[in-house]
Formats: sequence, structure tokens, C-alpha cells
Amino acid sequence: MQLKLNIRFFIALCLSISLQPVQAQSVIYQWRLAMSWPEGTPMLHNAAARFARNVETLSGGRFSIIVDAPGRHKAPLDILGMVRSGAYEMGHSASYYYKGKDPATTFFTTTPFGMTPTEMNAWYYYGGGLELLNKVYARHNVVAFPAGNTHIQMGGWFRKEIKSIQDLKGLKIRIPGHAGDVVGRAGMKPVSIPPGELYTALERGTIDAVEWAGPANDIKMGFHKIAPFYYTGWHEPGAELHVFINKQKFDALPDDLKAIIAVAAKEVSFDILSESFYRNVLAWEEMKQHSNILIRTLPDDVLELFKKANEDLLDEVAAKSPLAKEVINSQREFLNKAKDWTTITDADYLRLR
Ligand code: CA
Repeated sequence: MQLKLNIRFFIALCLSISLQPVQAQSVIYQWRLAMSWPEGTPMLHNAAARFARNVETLSGGRFSIIVDAPGRHKAPLDILGMVRSGAYEMGHSASYYYKGKDPATTFFTTTPFGMTPTEMNAWYYYGGGLELLNKVYARHNVVAFPAGNTHIQMGGWFRKEIKSIQDLKGLKIRIPGHAGDVVGRAGMKPVSIPPGELYTALERGTIDAVEWAGPANDIKMGFHKIAPFYYTGWHEPGAELHVFINKQKFDALPDDLKAIIAVAAKEVSFDILSESFYRNVLAWEEMKQHSNILIRTLPDDVLELFKKANEDLLDEVAAKSPLAKEVINSQREFLNKAKDWTTITDADYLRLR
């Protein structure tokens, strides 16, 4: 009798051990991801599509993700809202599009005069950035991962040359995030326009200038045909995109799929940084052939004005939102230390190369 019970127990134990993973692995997940980006945009749509492909491949086909462009979901600047409510399980967007909802989200994309991609990655993965990102997004019922660094961005396209602080007055520019507030403080009029409508807005004169990304993305958007002055960047030194995931949906996933999502996003972040750099090298070479594209850097006094406004506004945001203060202080503290090392390595090496 005792032997029979033991055998039954042994068989039951074996079955439970062998069946549990099989049951977990037999569940097929089919999720939808809403992205902010127009269909076919290099480095942006690519990032979302690559993330979806990574997850499907790494999960051996157990987890498939359909990527929807704004043409389908109609809300390119409210990806966070759709993921928060569960209308979409996932999204791919820029965190700083949501600064109106929560100022603490702003600086996870980038901070003007802030960290370079190398510094940003060090902060995210080792300097507490990832933990802060998820502390902020937990309040929005979302789990977030960095998923696509676009490298140092260009300052944008202007119809008229900026020769002095006076030229900023009343100039309407599309520029999101904290940089939008900075130029606003300096006399410009920052506006928010969905990515798919930027060309028309610039062409019709609804705006006088537009910042978008870098040469590869910008040339595809065609801005150079209508605004010849192309300015170097100050505002987005290492802009990072993100994957958003509805928190309940994420928490209910098996641990291996959670890990696959984290790995898939990290691979995309690195890959987009590499792709952005590569494509911008080639696009820059092509741009230099266009005699009608006039490369400029903003005058020193304009940049000093922006720097001062940037610091003042960071202090003001920090005073209003304790969580934004935590993010701003964490970035400031790390950047203050990192600057010395970047100067003696990157800057010194570039000087002697
Ligand atoms: Ca940009």
C-alpha cells in the first residue's frame, strides 16, 4: 500500500514538473503596439518593428506583436494614454511627449545641454535611470524600457537665418520636451504638431522652423526643400525612445517573456544608436552636396540665453514636482561627474585625432 502511494506520488510529481513548463509555454500571446511614428520612418518605425521581431524570434513564436502606425490608431501623441488604459498592450513613443501629463516623464528622452548617448546609457543601466523611469511610469500604470537612442540630434530647419536674440522673437517652431519651454522663455513660440503633419505645417507657414531628428530622418521628411538653414544641435544630445507596456498585462506575463522584452528593448536601443549614426554619416555626406542647404550653429549669445533659461526652468520644474526633482537631480549629479571623464576621453581624443 505504502509502495503504491509512493509510486502514485512519484508519478504525480513527475507530471507536475514536466507539465508546468509545457503549459506555460503553450500559451500564445498576440499583442498590439501603437507607435507615434509615421509608417516607414527610418530609426523610428524601424525601432518599433525591430522590437516586435526580436520578441517574436526570442520567444520562438510564442509572443507576436502587431505594430500599428498613427494611420490606424489616430493618436500619435497619446500612446501613453492608450497603453495606460489597456486599449493597446504596448506602445513605442518619446517620453517627453507626455510632459503635459507629468513633468517627470520629460527628461527620460533627453535634457537640453545634457547627457550624450554614452553618458545616457551609463545613467540608465548603471546610474539608477532605469529604476527612476519605472518609478515615474508606475504612477501611469505602465512599465517602460529604453528602446532606441537616436544619437545627438540636429537643431532643426529654419526658413530665416538666426543672427541675434532679436530674430527669435515670435518665431513659431515645432520643438517638443523641455527644449520647447526653453525656446519659449527666449521669445520663440514652441508648438506641438504630430510627426506626420510637420512637412505641411512648415510648407504652409503654420510654423517657421522645425526640429525633427538628424540628417537621415530629416532628408526623408523633405524639410530642406522649404527651409534652407540647418542648425546644429543643443537640445537633444542623446534622445532615447521608449517601449511602454500596460503594467497589469506585463505583470501577468511569465518571467521568461518579461526577460525577453527587456533584452529585446535593450538590443533595439543599441541597434538604433548604431543605425542612426551610420545613416546620418551617409545622409550628411549627401547633404553636403546640396548647395541650397546652409549649415549653421546658433550665435553664442543665443546659446547662452538658452543655457540660462534651461537651468532656470529645470529648477522651476523641480520645485513643482518632487518626482521630476528626483530625475533632474539624478541626471545633474551624474552628468557633473561624467563631464570630467568625457572631457579627458572623448573630447581629448577628438581633439588629437
Ligand atoms: Ca527631435
